[in-house]
Amino acid sequence: MSGYDFDLLTIGAGSGGIRASRRAAAFGARVAVAEQRFLGGTCVNIGCIPKKLLSYAAHFRKELEESRSYGWSFDQPVFDWRTLLDAKNREIERLNGVYRNLLNQSGVELIWGTATITGPHTVEVDGRTFTSKYILVATGSHPTVPDIEGAQYCITSDDAFYLDTLPERVVVVGGGYIAVEFASIFNGLGIDTTLVYRGDRLLKSFDADLGNFLAEQMTTQGVRIRFNTEIRKIERDGATLSCVTGDGERLSCDTVLHATGRVPNTARLGLESIGVALAPNAAIVVDGAFQTSQPSIYAVGDVIHRMQLTPVALAEGMLVADRLFNGSTEHMDYSGVPTAIFSHPNVATVGLSEEQAIESGYKIDLYRSIFTPLKHTVSSSGDKVLLKLIVDRESDRVLGVHMVGDDAGEILQGFAVAIRCKATKAQLDATVGIHPTIAEEFVTMRAKVGV
Ligand code: FAD
Repeated sequence: MSGYDFDLLTIGAGSGGIRASRRAAAFGARVAVAEQRFLGGTCVNIGCIPKKLLSYAAHFRKELEESRSYGWSFDQPVFDWRTLLDAKNREIERLNGVYRNLLNQSGVELIWGTATITGPHTVEVDGRTFTSKYILVATGSHPTVPDIEGAQYCITSDDAFYLDTLPERVVVVGGGYIAVEFASIFNGLGIDTTLVYRGDRLLKSFDADLGNFLAEQMTTQGVRIRFNTEIRKIERDGATLSCVTGDGERLSCDTVLHATGRVPNTARLGLESIGVALAPNAAIVVDGAFQTSQPSIYAVGDVIHRMQLTPVALAEGMLVADRLFNGSTEHMDYSGVPTAIFSHPNVATVGLSEEQAIESGYKIDLYRSIFTPLKHTVSSSGDKVLLKLIVDRESDRVLGVHMVGDDAGEILQGFAVAIRCKATKAQLDATVGIHPTIAEEFVTMRAKVGV
């Protein structure tokens, strides 16, 4: 047993921190986790979970409308934001309790308060000092708003989950996944929604077809999208905000949601003073074992700014615990990490985009299918899906699977397994489809569309 209070002291009880702490405790380590705000971190409280609940809520309006084509009739549906917020908050409180129990049951000590690292083996939490053989920083990230005139009138995704009342008109700024998800949620809830993005394509780190197709579909559903411009200033007149764009356009609204970037939570942690190296974007620099430049200090999750996803933070946290307390020498494999975007329609992707495959030197065959799914043929909603496969011509291996359409995330999880197993196009072709589904198209696409 070490002469420290703990073998591992984790800062941050979010996705990565809780997983690492529980896993370390399961190997017999004496573990504590310090948390200043809420159990479960961003994902549970102001990220994935509440976002998905709002997304479900926003889907109903359209579903109800479509149901009329299927014979349903009813008076005009009425939506109550307060009911949704209360239901969302109850679910989060339930999950907070689940995490509290998980920590208790695994013997991890929970220390409430704001932690600062004061030495290679010492952490101060609101005036109390603790020592630990290893320290794990899993403090996550926070949203930022650019320094423009009127920035104080903007909200971020953190605030969007707790709005007292729903706005009638909203401007969402950004072209990444959080921006398109919130634009879809607001639009789905019946709010007049404009998305402003300084680039020329949504989701710019994904396959270009996905962002382009998503923009078309979101526009069909009623979101106004302004590309190649940005908000220069925001003026306020009573309850009305006026966003002045780089093109000189004035967009009147009640709420401006900025979703243009997140910064790792490294400020005021005491990292620089004890020699933990930070990257220019404030992320903690770690090696392949998640060890920082201070050997007793490790870091995982959003704070290292690799892939800001919950399952990635979980996997990184597990790996640290395995390496420190179970003799593992494994490294994290970031290839083939699937991800979904819960915009309307959903987007999901695994493996290489067309652009990445070409940049990596592959000679590729492309398969692409755009069609109206059966459900929407009857309702004439205008919803279409896009499915795309990227195949290495030489080995026939499927390098990338991409989709925009209903339940894309649910569908692509299985294809992520196939990609990990290095599935070939011939193996997809030999797989019998499930009929009638959207996903069966992935195993029936025969015509190449070019390179
Ligand atoms: P976090 O979960 O953020 O946990 C960090 C914890 O550290 C927090 O609880 C914080 O209070 C605590 N903390 C910080 N500083 C201190 C300190 N000094 N002392 C004590 N405690 C401290 N990912 C997905 O995979 N799927 C999604 O659909 C998805 N949707 C998202 C939607 C939104 C709007 C956002 C913002 C994020 C979303 N993410 C999603 C990303 C995901 O939430 C993060 O990648 C994940 O939560 C990162 O986990 P983490 O452990 O690194 O940090």
